Amino acid sequence: MSTEIPYKIYLEESEMPKQWYNVRANMKKKPAPLLNPETKQPVTAEELETVFCKELVKQELDDTTPYIDIPQEILSFYQMYRPSPLVRAYCLEKKLGTPAKIYYKFEGNNTSGSHKLNSAIAQAYYAKQQGLKGVTTETGAGQWGTALSMACAYLDLDCQVYMVKVSYEQKPFRREVMRTYGANVTPSPSTKTAVGRKILEKFPNTNGSLGCAISEAVEAATTQEGYRYVLGSVLSQVLLHQSVIGLETKTAMDKYNIHPDIIIGCAGGGSNLGGLISPFMGEKLRGEADYRFIAVEPASCPSFTRGVYAYDFCDTGMVCPLQKMYTLGSGFMPAPNHAGGLRYHGMSAVLSELYDQGLMEAVTVEQTSVFNAAEQFARIEGILPAPESSHAIKIAIDEALRCKETGEEKTILFGLTGTGYFDMYAYEKFNDGKMSDYIPTDEELQKSIDALPKV
Ligand SMILES: *Cc1c(COP(=O)(O)O)cnc(C)c1O
Repeated sequence: MSTEIPYKIYLEESEMPKQWYNVRANMKKKPAPLLNPETKQPVTAEELETVFCKELVKQELDDTTPYIDIPQEILSFYQMYRPSPLVRAYCLEKKLGTPAKIYYKFEGNNTSGSHKLNSAIAQAYYAKQQGLKGVTTETGAGQWGTALSMACAYLDLDCQVYMVKVSYEQKPFRREVMRTYGANVTPSPSTKTAVGRKILEKFPNTNGSLGCAISEAVEAATTQEGYRYVLGSVLSQVLLHQSVIGLETKTAMDKYNIHPDIIIGCAGGGSNLGGLISPFMGEKLRGEADYRFIAVEPASCPSFTRGVYAYDFCDTGMVCPLQKMYTLGSGFMPAPNHAGGLRYHGMSAVLSELYDQGLMEAVTVEQTSVFNAAEQFARIEGILPAPESSHAIKIAIDEALRCKETGEEKTILFGLTGTGYFDMYAYEKFNDGKMSDYIPTDEELQKSIDALPKV
């Protein structure tokens, strides 16, 4: 095997993936079907098409086609910021004194600052293809809203973003980036929708929540002619689009004969992790190779490790279809001290099924240890990581240190999903020693789990 692995492995344009990989096609036991929340029967394409774009509904329901062509216009857009580099973390390895080889796939090299652009452009493209005027969505921390704004600007599509009011006020620069790309950003709850007005009437001083913003965005999509709602994670179509991360990584690693032993990713709704592991998981499912996959979630929002595998609402507003997934209950609210993203109550149906079959592992990490790892990484590798991404960094470092103890020369791969320039408020808290950890009690979790819909 070659010892001359470059610091950064880039792909040639001709080596870039031309198709997305749908890991569901290789799963013997498929994820459970989405259910209509009223009838509790599997949703039909027609029902989904009132909320989501037609072609995206087709992708959402397709669990048999392994490869799906990426349309040329999306490939052209990908070429503006892809391939993303696969970096050999030589500096980090040296600093840790580990015999392990560490690689990370860096998705933060675009203005939105995260992997979310990979799916935003696909979803905007299919909306445009359908002849729609625009799309609506919600955003919490702001990465998804930013990515969608960029994609819509490129395709000349109207973009309406409902941004959780507290983020709208606390992250004015995120808001301005979206507006610069032409998006219409509304602090949620707002008076623009019936659901928003109802919430404001009841709680005039509310800071808003993701669930409320989703309800407003869905209402906006279904009450305006020519609009559909789009979602940045959790859905199987989003995992499909994010498979470009894993496909590029696999091609780059194959080129240099690198076989990762452990593949690590942070898990909010599961889209980056699902995208990164998809082609590797495909090999595992087909019995061609074996890997250890580790999902890393915050101790304050532990969907995999302390949730239940059950049907639940994807949104707090209870308007989207029911999905069988590892969930803490759609009423679960992460602690207010929770700094980064990854605060979603549930998990991708695909990853939930793979986890349930014992094909991947999950661990939790506490917030201060995540920021410790983030700072260590920033000082050694130069990149200022997003708090979400730093969950993966923390476990990659832990695994590398374990190799130091045992002397094993394992190859570790992790997903570095984005940069943290808009998270300096959280970094400030950490630097001032004011950041705390919070782990919900069993009673707290039980309360939202008890409220799961009966199916
Ligand atoms: C949104 C986001 C995540 C988490 O979302 P997944 O769907 O779990 O990938 C992770 N990192 C960054 C930088 C994000 O913006």
